Amino acid sequence: MHLKRIELHGFKSFADKSVIEFQPGITGIVGPNGCGKSNISDAVRWVLGEQSVKSLRGSNMADVIFNGSEDRKPQSLAEVTLVFDNEDRFMNFDYNEVEITRRLYRQNNEAEYLINKEPCRLKDIVDLIMDTGLGRDSLSIISQGNISTFADSKPEERRGMFEEAAGVAKYKKRKLESIRKLERTKDNLDRVEDICLELEKQIAPLKRQKEKAEVYLELKDQLQSIEVSVLVKEIENLSESLKDLNVSLDFLDKEKVTIDGQILLNEQQNETLKKKMYDLDQEVNGLQGQLLTAMNNVNELETQKVEIDTNRKHILENTDKEDLQARIAQMKAILQDAVNEYNDRVHRYNETKEEKMDLEASQERNRNDMMALRQNIENLNLQLHNNRARKEQLIDVVENKSGYSYGVRSVMKARQSLNGIIGVLGDLLESDPEYELALSTALGNAVQFVVTKTDEGARDAIRFLKDNKSGRATFLPVETMQARRIREEHQVVCQNTSGYLGVMSDFVRYNTPIDSVVLNQLGHIILVDTLEHASALSRATFARYKVVTLDGEVVNVGGSLTGGSYKQQSSSFASKRELEMIKEVIESQEKEMTEKKSKLNDLDNMAREISHNLLQKQMSFAKLEVVVTNKKSDLQVAKSEYENLTNRSIELSEIQSGAQDNQLINELNEAKKRRDRLTEAIQAKRELRMSFVNENDKIEETLRASRSHLREIQSDMTQKQIEKAKQETELSNYLLRLNDEYKMTYEYAKEELATEVNMHEAKETVRLLRHKIDSLGNVNLQAIEDYQDVSTRYESLNTQRLDLISAQDSILKAIDEMDEIMVTRFSETFEKINKEFNIVFRNLFGGGRAELRYSDPDNILETGIDIDVQPPGKAVQNITLFSGGEKALIAISCLFAILRVRPVPMCILDEVEAALDVANVERFAKYLKEFSSETQFIVVTHREGTMEECDLLYGATMQQKGVTKLVSVKLKDAIDLAQTA
Ligand code: ATP
Ligand code: MG
Repeated sequence: MHLKRIELHGFKSFADKSVIEFQPGITGIVGPNGCGKSNISDAVRWVLGEQSVKSLRGSNMADVIFNGSEDRKPQSLAEVTLVFDNEDRFMNFDYNEVEITRRLYRQNNEAEYLINKEPCRLKDIVDLIMDTGLGRDSLSIISQGNISTFADSKPEERRGMFEEAAGVAKYKKRKLESIRKLERTKDNLDRVEDICLELEKQIAPLKRQKEKAEVYLELKDQLQSIEVSVLVKEIENLSESLKDLNVSLDFLDKEKVTIDGQILLNEQQNETLKKKMYDLDQEVNGLQGQLLTAMNNVNELETQKVEIDTNRKHILENTDKEDLQARIAQMKAILQDAVNEYNDRVHRYNETKEEKMDLEASQERNRNDMMALRQNIENLNLQLHNNRARKEQLIDVVENKSGYSYGVRSVMKARQSLNGIIGVLGDLLESDPEYELALSTALGNAVQFVVTKTDEGARDAIRFLKDNKSGRATFLPVETMQARRIREEHQVVCQNTSGYLGVMSDFVRYNTPIDSVVLNQLGHIILVDTLEHASALSRATFARYKVVTLDGEVVNVGGSLTGGSYKQQSSSFASKRELEMIKEVIESQEKEMTEKKSKLNDLDNMAREISHNLLQKQMSFAKLEVVVTNKKSDLQVAKSEYENLTNRSIELSEIQSGAQDNQLINELNEAKKRRDRLTEAIQAKRELRMSFVNENDKIEETLRASRSHLREIQSDMTQKQIEKAKQETELSNYLLRLNDEYKMTYEYAKEELATEVNMHEAKETVRLLRHKIDSLGNVNLQAIEDYQDVSTRYESLNTQRLDLISAQDSILKAIDEMDEIMVTRFSETFEKINKEFNIVFRNLFGGGRAELRYSDPDNILETGIDIDVQPPGKAVQNITLFSGGEKALIAISCLFAILRVRPVPMCILDEVEAALDVANVERFAKYLKEFSSETQFIVVTHREGTMEECDLLYGATMQQKGVTKLVSVKLKDAIDLAQTA
């Protein structure tokens, strides 16, 4: 057997599909670092079932899929196929060629395994290569850098390699399977034994219960045959007896109905009687009431009679009729007097009252008048006061010139000492009231100008003002003032203009000779009625004159207009006039005041008189009130006295006529008769009632007898009903028992099963049987069936148990046999390898000695393998302390020793000789050559010595970056390749 071909696609750096052909002999793979040589050995391991990601130099399984390079995309699937030549059937598989394929998909991490293109399990592949020497633990695939692990690993870890060599792996595997099987068998056996034990525990009690149930059923059968007959008989008897009971009950019932009827009748009769008696009692009660009244009436009348008799006797004895009449006449006269007096006083009382009220009314009127007059006087007083104040003000204005400027006032004050002061112009002029406003307006400030006789006088006055610093004033000297007038042609215009009233100077009066001044100030000022006319006139005269209106408006020279309302300041002309007027008003008011005060005085006197009169009237009214009351009571006394006397007179005449007496006697007789009639009626009713009582007693007697009989019957009936109920219960119990216990009807039991029995004996037997059944206690009828089930099951399980025990025995035996084979094979192979190991070691090391030893010689099946080596000239030492080269050589010695004893068909060695010196490389290569006839070697190497021995050489390159390509090369090229690397 040998590896013919590896096909890789998408595995690690083998991005493209690559096919590497192999031949028996030695195939070398050379190439620079990192070009993908070791990936080939990884691929072989992977296909042969490697599961360790670490051994494949990755961190997870998907790392084996081509991962992309600079200019290649990653692959989604890695696939590697190993094709073996199996013509020698080295592999236990009946084909000349064996193709083993493994795939891995990146997307879902899913793996696929195939043998000769048929999908299979990983286990199938592992089984196929088992014992071919290519197994996991063999030395047939040595990865790069792993060569020293052989020396470094623990003895137990080395054992696998020897097992592979001894070909005991399949026995070991089978043994493991057997052990697992044994465990399963043991588990089953334990389970079965547990159940058996459980069942054994159940069987004994179940058996006892089953036997008891059988006895029970037997007794029950016996009981049934007798008890059914007994029950049938009992039921018969009870039915008979019940029939009899029903007949007697019917009879009693009828009798009871009759007596009930009788009692009812009697009770009704009694009721009627009682009703009658009640009615009678009511009537008697009523009559007795009437009787009482009648008797009282009789008594009353009798008493009255006695009284009347006594009274009459008294009156007759004591009254003199004539005297009585005289007294009545006298009393009548007194009464008449009293009436007259009373009426007279009442008349006077009313008169006085009216007079008093009149006085009160005039007092009220007088009071009101006085109040009004006082108010009037007060108002008048106020007006007078105001007017007097106003008068003072006006006097101040008119006489003291308070309205004038300081200078004017100073001049006027000093007029005596000054020369020729005539007066203030405003004071010198007068006009009718309707022109005052116009005049004031026309004068303007000139009102305050001071008029002097001469120029000189004016100058003196000015000097005076100046010297005394007493203000300023304007002076109009009469002798020098020039008159000013309207030109004649204009006068004509004016006279023909409507509203024209005249020249202002024509409307003033003055006593002193001041014509020149007046004409100077007013002779050229025109007076018209309204402002419209003023404007018209001004226009007509070319605005050469001042035109004033009655309302004080002005059209000035030149045409400008002045107007509006004046402040409450009157002109001096008005003040003068007002002063005159107010003086008159005050005079008249003072006169009025005197009149009113005298009138008030009159009223006051009148008030005093009224109140005096009123007091008088009130006193006499109060006196009269008392008198009227007294007279009224006098009248009443007289009246009642008079009535008394007249009554007595009537009474006396009645007594004398005897009328009163006869009537009373008649009434008395009537009353007595009525009383007697009532007494008789009551007596009759009482007798009737007595007869009812007797009748009632008789009926009561009958009723008592009937009731006692009824009670007897009822008690008898109750007795019988109880008995009946009892028997019915019994009967239904028996029927129920038949039904419940024996599941049969009475009719069926009677027809089919009942036999004639001696009741006494039969009952005894039933009792005995019941006792026996009871003494059985709880019976489990199910136990019969359960026992059957359990014992059958137990039987079958027991058989199983025995089978399992024998199976267990045979597995144990097989294991023993396998152990024996393994021990034999293992130790035989081990011995052989050990011998060869020493030889190869000495050869490779040029002397020394080497030995393999069991670490646990007593347990060949599990023992580890120790290595005891001694290179020439070196003391024996711990193997881990050897150099890398030495460690490699030790491992290689062991590999070759194994190959000698048990050749493997194929061996992949990845730079195992890298650490060796040239001489050792050559020796190594010689060994390879020696074994190559039996073993196919695939060696990854950089060493010339090795290359020289190769039959076929491949150069690995990465022409395309990151993608491995393998080409067959000549030795020389290979050496070059290795050297360029
Ligand atoms: P040396 O002589 O140093 O032992 P080598 O020829 O044995 O080198 P390998 O170890 O076989 O080299 O290959 C390593 C190369 O494979 C690395 O360059 C790595 O990038 C590449 N490689 C490993 N896994 C993948 C992968 N999944 N996809 C692409 N390239 C991969
Ligand atoms: Mg490598």
